[in-house]
Amino acid sequence: MTDRYAVIGNPIAHSKSPQIHAAFARLTFQDMAYEAILAPVDGFAAAVRAFIAAGGRGLNVTVPFKLEAYALADTRSPRAEAAKAVNTLAFSDAGIHGDNTDGLGLVADLTRNLGLELAGKRLLLLGAGGAARGVLLPLMAERPAVLTLANRTAAKARQLLAEFLPHADGCPMDAGGFAELSGRQFDLVINATAASLADEAPPLPAGLYAPGSLAYDMVYGRETPFLAAARAQGAARLADGLGMLVEQAAESFFLWRGVRPDTAPILAQLRAS
Ligand code: NDP
Repeated sequence: MTDRYAVIGNPIAHSKSPQIHAAFARLTFQDMAYEAILAPVDGFAAAVRAFIAAGGRGLNVTVPFKLEAYALADTRSPRAEAAKAVNTLAFSDAGIHGDNTDGLGLVADLTRNLGLELAGKRLLLLGAGGAARGVLLPLMAERPAVLTLANRTAAKARQLLAEFLPHADGCPMDAGGFAELSGRQFDLVINATAASLADEAPPLPAGLYAPGSLAYDMVYGRETPFLAAARAQGAARLADGLGMLVEQAAESFFLWRGVRPDTAPILAQLRAS
């Protein structure tokens, strides 16, 4: 019987996950189907249970259900535990297992696809929501020279720092509001805020971009106001989050199927379309 998987969210029509996973399945000769499920905002758990009852093996979870997925899981990976958010569910007789592959997806995109060495670099992570939480541990593990967290609501960035400092393992970290960044320079600036969705750029002070620096927006498909501002401010390279999307999908696929698909062809195909 063909194994069933899906992405669940609200809205969901825009999702590229069915296209990505169908390509992975073709490339790795897996007998599986992958669909998109629109769950009512107050009906996430019921939709998951119905999918399991219908024989579903795993789900990708997207906006706005990542926190509910975390709560629903019977067991969780350490990275999901740290992120307090789950983007991948796997179902077995042992119950519902939750994982978070967003961070590995980002790091894989930065290091493999964009060829960036993160060790010894000055990293700035903008935002303190679910996306920022999800990528913190994998970024810290790359041993940057410093990892700075900045958020519109400075207290939330400081709270995140307090939560993650016990896991820092020697990685220097600090946190605050955008204005406190004044006078500092970074080699990599990652926009994990939702500002781009409102067609806005986070109000950052001038002069943040060091020579040769990269500006990365987790939102994909267009040059966002954040990326346009980074270009104007002298960032040497710009990248959107399409590679992160494909890489986090590959990591979910690996968790479910035990096979790691080659991401380059599907990323090239998505870029071309
Ligand atoms: P959340 O709603 O959890 O967090 C929103 C964050 O954005 C908060 O830190 C908030 O600050 C900040 N923010 C919102 N609006 C603005 C603004 N106008 N200016 C400055 N800061 C703002 O969202 P998520 O963390 O889940 O998602 C963040 C983004 O990352 C989304 O755009 C999402 O699409 C993208 N994403 C992409 C992925 C990929 O694979 N490419 C994977 C996961 C997420 P405050 O605390 O002050 O409210």
